[in-house]
Amino acid sequence: MKVVIVGNNVAGTFTAQNIHFLNEDVEIEIFTQERYPYYTRVNLPELIPGKIQAEDLIVFKDDWYKDKNIKLNLNSKVTKIEPDQKVLFIEGQDDPVSYDKLILALGSVPNIPPIKNAREMVGKGVFTLRTIDDALEIKEFIQNVKAKKAIIIGGGLLGLELANQIKNANLDATVVEFFPRLLPRQLDDECSGMLKNEIESKGINVVLNAATEEIVGNGAVNGIKLKDGQKIDADIVLIQAGIRATIDLAQNSGLETNRGIIVDEYLETSKKNIFAVGDCVEYKNQTWGIIPACMEQSKIVAASVLGLKKIEYKGTTPKNTLKIVGLELTSIGVFDPSQEVGGGWDILKRADKKDCCYQKLVLKDNTLKGAILFGDNKAMSFVYKKMEQDVTREELMDILELYLYICSNCGAEYDETKREILFKDLPNDWKCLNCKHPKEGFKKQQNK
Ligand SMILES: Cc1cc2nc3c(=O)[nH]c(=O)nc-3n(C[C@H](O)[C@H](O)[C@H](O)COP(=O)(O)OP(=O)(O)OC[C@H]3O[C@@H](n4cnc5c(N)ncnc54)[C@H](O)[C@@H]3O)c2cc1C
Repeated sequence: MKVVIVGNNVAGTFTAQNIHFLNEDVEIEIFTQERYPYYTRVNLPELIPGKIQAEDLIVFKDDWYKDKNIKLNLNSKVTKIEPDQKVLFIEGQDDPVSYDKLILALGSVPNIPPIKNAREMVGKGVFTLRTIDDALEIKEFIQNVKAKKAIIIGGGLLGLELANQIKNANLDATVVEFFPRLLPRQLDDECSGMLKNEIESKGINVVLNAATEEIVGNGAVNGIKLKDGQKIDADIVLIQAGIRATIDLAQNSGLETNRGIIVDEYLETSKKNIFAVGDCVEYKNQTWGIIPACMEQSKIVAASVLGLKKIEYKGTTPKNTLKIVGLELTSIGVFDPSQEVGGGWDILKRADKKDCCYQKLVLKDNTLKGAILFGDNKAMSFVYKKMEQDVTREELMDILELYLYICSNCGAEYDETKREILFKDLPNDWKCLNCKHPKEGFKKQQNK
């Protein structure tokens, strides 16, 4: 059997590895339009200040492919699939490539919002970051024009990580975010405010509630104009405003698509013998765009193409970690139950503003559904292990070091899980709200 995979990043590569693991006799051929073997995108921003080189990002070198008998074709853009003939075509080549099973691991591309001049100025002062070549182009541009000021449009994870590396490249960096808070998809208001302070303390400027209307400049970029009329100067504008699944190849070849390539629970598309995996996939109206989803799907799709349809895809819990040295931040699953349907939600929160620590655990009917861990990752392994599992409130109180304090005079309770302020942070002259007994008269209860 011959399996052809289009796309050579996390999803395509790990699918190939998993197929080889399940059956060494399968012939596997990969096509990718990029010029590098599998590399990780995670550390791409570090290429810009020159902290690392492109070779450092390459995960699997030629030997890995040889060893697994996987044929890798670089610089090979697939232009058309003919599902009925089970063939596909490569740009610049006349002969079709045949397959028994085809896997589309086409990934996604950066989204460029409808900002005046943004598309026209791409490569001439406006850039997005997705590939090694994008990073090298940004680095070269900064050097060539001796750029001093950068604007990063998008205060999500990638925008902040990029801003940090732009700062490391000795540019003045300003993050411009449309929403009223940073990381709008990963954090609640309170934690987002704490993160903003930390980001600003690193010398990165943050402008919130900022809708960019126009890239300003004639031939060369000299800034942006916001909808409220404010102008911010810059020599380079970097757009990190979300991603779009790559669907054009699938769409033009008659596969069902929406925001992504539509798949069933075995990751098969609307056309027989064609599967999809990774960022390009849409399952039950959802797309992902994170590595854990690629890894999980790559196991399922490998089994599916080999006819071992045992595991069904159930979606992947969102997991995101901000990678800025000195800033520990992970957001996983549900972080804001007010956005969810149904009842039974409970929140345990420890907000230590002085130490810049914020830990929030979200449960529904005693099942752990999500967490935000900022400034202190001690609870991380617990959260990863217990996600979607039964937990007790006491166990979570222990993990977050939250306690119940009892007034020795009247028995009133100060329950830290329900209060904004930790007991230790209450002023010394604080008194029992019930009987006015002094703070020292409270006793800490040990969690069971
Ligand atoms: C800077 C950066 C940092 C990131 N950090 C994290 C992180 O910390 N954690 C995390 O979970 N995720 C992170 N991500 C997201 C993660 O990289 C993606 O989820 C992952 O790369 C998706 O893998 P994929 O294989 O589905 O698609 P992609 O990585 O997009 O790869 C798809 C490949 O297919 C090729 N292709 C597309 N169409 C064709 C065609 N017609 N012919 C041939 N080849 C084609 C593309 O050129 C591309 O090489 C980050 C992304 C970026 C850009």
